[in-house]
Amino acid sequence: MSSSPADLVRQFHLAVGLDARSTPTEIPAPLAAHRGELLAEEAAEVAEVSVSGPLDKLAHELADVVYVAYGTALVHGIDLDAVIAEIHRSNMTKVGPDGQVARRADGKVLKGEHYEAPDVSAVLRRQGWADA
Ligand SMILES: [Mg+2]
Repeated sequence: MSSSPADLVRQFHLAVGLDARSTPTEIPAPLAAHRGELLAEEAAEVAEVSVSGPLDKLAHELADVVYVAYGTALVHGIDLDAVIAEIHRSNMTKVGPDGQVARRADGKVLKGEHYEAPDVSAVLRRQGWADA
């Protein structure tokens, strides 16, 4: 079987009885809040070990963030791979036709004149989101 995070997390949700939706859907507020808290907990664990490590702990917590993020997308019925592809498409427009990127003093890549913002609403509509 595929080992993409989306497939693995779906397998986990089905195995343990967690929600799994196939169309972008508004979900009950308590469930949405619970998913947000789970992700915040994992993000805080990344922050704890980002500098001090050790590296295996950082890798573990990074994977937890991605796993929970995919799970949250699944609970909301969002195909997160498609959203990531759209974010990637947009990010790549930060690279100019000459292959150069504009950077802030701290190194952050800036949006150049060819930048195109991601259209996440369009991605969700293609997945069947009716509330756009
Ligand atoms: Mg963790």
